[in-house]
Amino acid sequence: MSKILHRSIHAELPVAVGGRGIELFDADGKAYIDASCGAAVSCLGHGHPEVLAALHAQLDKLAYAHTGFFTTEIAERLADRLIADSPDGIDYVYLVTGGSQAMEAALKMARQYFVEKGEIARRHIIARRQSYHGNTLGVLAAGGNEWRRAQFRPLLIETHHIAPCYAYRGRSAGESEYGYGERVANELEAKILELGPGEVIAFVAETVVGATAGAVPAVAGYFKRIREICDRFGVLLILDEVMCGMGRTGTLHAYEQEGIVPDLVAIAKGLGGGYQPVGAVLMGRHIYDAFATGSGFFQHGHTYMGHPLAAAAALAVQDVIREQGLLENVVKLGELLNCRLRERFHKHYHVGDIRGRGLFRGIEIVADRGEKSPFAPARKVHAAVKREAMARGLMVYPMGGTIDGVQGDHILLAPPFIVSAGQIDNIVERLGDAVDAAIAPGVA
Ligand SMILES: *Cc1c(COP(=O)(O)O)cnc(C)c1O
Repeated sequence: MSKILHRSIHAELPVAVGGRGIELFDADGKAYIDASCGAAVSCLGHGHPEVLAALHAQLDKLAYAHTGFFTTEIAERLADRLIADSPDGIDYVYLVTGGSQAMEAALKMARQYFVEKGEIARRHIIARRQSYHGNTLGVLAAGGNEWRRAQFRPLLIETHHIAPCYAYRGRSAGESEYGYGERVANELEAKILELGPGEVIAFVAETVVGATAGAVPAVAGYFKRIREICDRFGVLLILDEVMCGMGRTGTLHAYEQEGIVPDLVAIAKGLGGGYQPVGAVLMGRHIYDAFATGSGFFQHGHTYMGHPLAAAAALAVQDVIREQGLLENVVKLGELLNCRLRERFHKHYHVGDIRGRGLFRGIEIVADRGEKSPFAPARKVHAAVKREAMARGLMVYPMGGTIDGVQGDHILLAPPFIVSAGQIDNIVERLGDAVDAAIAPGVA
């Protein structure tokens, strides 16, 4: 009997013993295609020789030095690389060990930024419903997924939520995509006016919504309008690219495709590709300068921030992506994945929507595609799809609660950037079989 409190106590988990390329192997010798990179993490797949070599080299040099005493060459090199690769307006880095830590740091940074500037009345965080920003209490409060929040509500700080930009569900009949985007973006302005314009710290959003909604990009114009509203009221824009960032959507940062630059952006999952736990906040010069010309000190910190092995893994992963031109592969194979998903599912009675960007794709499962009606949550269709896919040696990332935290099911796909065309065909074939086995077609 396991002594670990596993995520789900009654689940029977296979034991992972190895991995190579896009596959993981269990103790019985069964291979699984990792078509979700776990949770959009393992962007270079498993056992990548260059990343392993970089980790061995750093380990032989130095495993750990506390950031209260030292900086390290490897952490400085990672920061230089991340800033060199970022667009103008992103100038400094804060290194942590994961996505929740990155988002927590971004929220505290945003509050202290205004304290440094003497705008101490600013205290409100506005985010969107149906988003996920991490599981620690601060970012859980910012997240908009009701199911994740419900039992912890008495412990959560006050936050405010507006509608997501989720065209498949939110756009009215007769409304243009652009018009829909403007309407839901304008909810931010209304919320800021309601709370008091001088009292709002930041607006927080996933550029492409990941785990909780299934690869939902905003419609054209939405983020431009959001940026305008933030600028008009002096509200900071914090983008959570923990899942959708670092190349996953075909550009290094997902916001590059929106034509905007945030004040703060959190990255994590693909940053180190799973070779080490690592995350970061990237920030504009104005944020850094407020600290530099103010107290000279960001009142925060963690024991393992800027960890040399984490920095070595992240730098190696980012070097490989750049040297091998893998973002081009994300764009090309992402289009192929989109095509294959459409061929397989576009007339499927139980697939309502196929969406996403690059190698970040979602399909929304429905009971009836005409009415967009969800399956009863108790049927746990998402869990059945996961089970059927695993039985066929395929890892995808299905989740329930797509619509409102309770209703709806979707499947997230996020294959490694090294995936080939033949492997894409294989993934979609196994997924098609898994979906059909999980839901007998035509039965609601
Ligand atoms: C995974 C995720 C987080 C939390 O990251 P952890 O490393 O699990 O703490 C935050 N935001 C988004 C968008 C995520 O997908």
